[in-house]
Amino acid sequence: MLGAFALRSGSRLSRQLRRAIQTIAEVAETGNDVFVLVEHPIDDGRVDLNGRMLLLDDRDTFRRSDDADDADRCRAGPAEEIERGDGAPAGREHRIDDQHVTRVEIRRQLRVVLRCDRRHLVALQADVPDARAGHELEDGVEHAESGAKHRNDDDLRPHAATGRRAERRLDGDVARRHAAQRFSREQHADARRAAAKIFRSSPLVAQADESIVHERMVDETHRHGVHYTRRSSSGIRLRPDTTGESEGTTNGDAWTSAIESVSMRANLVTIVAAVGVLAVQPVRTPISLVVVGKTVLTQNIRRQVLSPGAVAINGNAIVDVDAPTTIALKYRAGETINARDEIVLPGLVNTHTHAPMVMYRGLADDLALMEWLNKYIFPAEAKTVSPEMVRVGTRLAALEMIESGTTTYADMYYFEEEVARVTKEAGLRGVLGETIIQFPVADAKTPIEGLARTERFIKLYKDDALIVPAVAPHAMYTNDKATLLASVQLARRYGVPVIIHLAETENELKTAREKYQMTPTAYLESIGFWGPPSDRQNTHTIAAHGVWVNDEDVAILKRRGIGVSHNPESNMKLSSGTAPVAMYLAAGVALGLGTDGAASNNDLDMFEAMRQASFLAKHATGDPTAVPAQTALDLATIGGARALGMERLIGSLEPGKRADLITVSMNSARQTPLYDAVSHLVYVTRGDDVRTTIVDGKVLMKDRQMKTLDRAAVIADANRLAGRVKEAVGR
Ligand SMILES: [Zn+2]
Repeated sequence: MLGAFALRSGSRLSRQLRRAIQTIAEVAETGNDVFVLVEHPIDDGRVDLNGRMLLLDDRDTFRRSDDADDADRCRAGPAEEIERGDGAPAGREHRIDDQHVTRVEIRRQLRVVLRCDRRHLVALQADVPDARAGHELEDGVEHAESGAKHRNDDDLRPHAATGRRAERRLDGDVARRHAAQRFSREQHADARRAAAKIFRSSPLVAQADESIVHERMVDETHRHGVHYTRRSSSGIRLRPDTTGESEGTTNGDAWTSAIESVSMRANLVTIVAAVGVLAVQPVRTPISLVVVGKTVLTQNIRRQVLSPGAVAINGNAIVDVDAPTTIALKYRAGETINARDEIVLPGLVNTHTHAPMVMYRGLADDLALMEWLNKYIFPAEAKTVSPEMVRVGTRLAALEMIESGTTTYADMYYFEEEVARVTKEAGLRGVLGETIIQFPVADAKTPIEGLARTERFIKLYKDDALIVPAVAPHAMYTNDKATLLASVQLARRYGVPVIIHLAETENELKTAREKYQMTPTAYLESIGFWGPPSDRQNTHTIAAHGVWVNDEDVAILKRRGIGVSHNPESNMKLSSGTAPVAMYLAAGVALGLGTDGAASNNDLDMFEAMRQASFLAKHATGDPTAVPAQTALDLATIGGARALGMERLIGSLEPGKRADLITVSMNSARQTPLYDAVSHLVYVTRGDDVRTTIVDGKVLMKDRQMKTLDRAAVIADANRLAGRVKEAVGR
């Protein structure tokens, strides 16, 4: 007779269960839930083994060829393993492709591994220490088959195939959806026989250390053929569904011991555990948030992609990234964001902007940099930059960045403490540099004053969770040597980063050549601005633009560990030139992407920056393979993190890193059809496609609803302030 227990999360349980009754082990998937079905022989009223779920992992779609380890782990199928237990050679002909079969020690371990082109892995361990073995079990199996025959159920009919190797075709579809159907009737019979031999070769001892059973399993069990009753103590008794009587008691926590106490006349009872998303694991670690996505682009060193995937977050940190089923088994989340139709990726890193300059967006277009600066931007700034303008502008910029998926940005402006305050309120991460410039500006009449102001700013935010204060000497052509060096000395004293514009225009190059007979990069090297490499430990420098550089300059930047921010849109719009991205990448310079201020872009959309970085590189080099989509995405995520010296904290979805991530919808006409998520992110996605933005574990926007900013008020304030800007430039 057969009894069956089921634990499930999907809606197809009964179907699964009916089938599972006849199998030794079975794996199936319903939607995104993976079921692992394990049968435990019970012989003469005693459970002989206690199956224990060790791992349930469907990290499929690792798309990168360098995932060799994972691929290897996945290359054994349950059929092969059972077969090996059977003493038969691993049959290569049983696999879809001629992959290497990982040899696995079968003793004490029954692994069910599904792999194939999607590398969907499910592994079980049955601790089957023991007592008795072998023939009894095999007999039991045979009896079970006989029993099945009497049930007058086609599926349970015994098969003549017990003595031959069954076809075991586990392919990608198995992993995806209809695994169970792939286990043919022959397989069932053969698998039973094979399993019996495996168990015979292993000591069999029932172990009662873990329960994988959820109360729902009990409930389902009731519906599907085995009766039970629960009381406050003792065990559960099981019996086949013949009389409808309950014979015993249990409580949910004592499930394993309950199984052991089963008293049955049957030679074999098959216990089926199906584990899915809602299935209960013995101990699930409480965490604050889980984000489940259709695809998770981890951007880790292997550029691992999980489809589906989930990111487990506790507090401000990522604790795990794995298949949703695995995450569900391991963690109990306070909140779950279901982005099953969306792509989950690290938050974008904008390595160069001037946030409050959104207030000058569209104020003056179609001008060269110096004319644009001297005629419009500097006068507008002289008349309108104030703490209020900086607050209003930064709030607008923060709204735009959160709405378009930027989670960290590097900034250089005035009243940077106001920028910091608003950035923190909005929940964004910022590397914020107080500008040091030789001429009088709104927040400092002299560079000395600017440096003093900067020092106060640094002290205020030195140990902030979100804000990294920085010193930002504007450029080599707007500061003298003493100011440049005083800036880096201040930064080194406090161990904070330096941000500077570098070699943005040909004019800057000309100036440096005329004054110093050197390139801007070489000049800064000559005065010790870049500092010795050892200083990288506590001072990181970010150079924005780096357009007009030669091989030697790139070598200097690489040697000094300088992060470079590439701003393709600003460079194109102001006709500043084309940064040698390929040269930077070849040299291994830490390169990130930036939008620059919205006055010269005219937005802060990093998706557009990715796209333009790719297009510009292709256009400039005549090489269509230049800056492919993955490289562009790298520049906007982990590359940007490196450029800011923050790769240990952000830029990829990895345990231990800060929980900065976004979800992006892929359902628009523009994004249809979807063959490649990375291609779409770079070539067709816009900031507006971002659905949810999370920084430091905090949800800043969910399904486009802002959580930290009052959207309408931010826009109204900006419009109000724009009146003053118009007045200032006489428009
Ligand atoms: Zn700039």
